[in-house]
Amino acid sequence: MENNKYKLDVWPAFIHAKCPRCRRGDMFANKMYGFQGQVMHKTCSHCGLVYEREPGYFYVAMFVSYAFNVAEMVTIAVAISVLTGSHNPWLYVTIILAFAVILSPFNFRYSRVILLYWLTPGLHYHPEMSQDKTN
Ligand SMILES: [Zn+2]
Repeated sequence: MENNKYKLDVWPAFIHAKCPRCRRGDMFANKMYGFQGQVMHKTCSHCGLVYEREPGYFYVAMFVSYAFNVAEMVTIAVAISVLTGSHNPWLYVTIILAFAVILSPFNFRYSRVILLYWLTPGLHYHPEMSQDKTN
């Protein structure tokens, strides 16, 4: 198969937040944790895909982010309970809020990556777009 010659695996591309169509271009312009906040490219530098499919498209990512937050908070609450056996609500509130802040760049990034990788109809990986540009 000619197409499979350039095929890139989904998980490395997903983890490094590469373009969902070519898996080559970066979605974000800076590191996940830094002082500039989150800067996202408008288009893919490799295949030219416009990441924001329509105005306000990334509002949908809030639902993914919400699911992340609930899952993280439940996990942390269970971990606190198992590790400390405490019934002090302030311990739970403090630790859970601290983790919510620490994990927010992660949630922001991967909610958008998941949205573009698996929740966007009509947007799929095109292996032929993974090849190096010749012109
Ligand atoms: Zn691309």
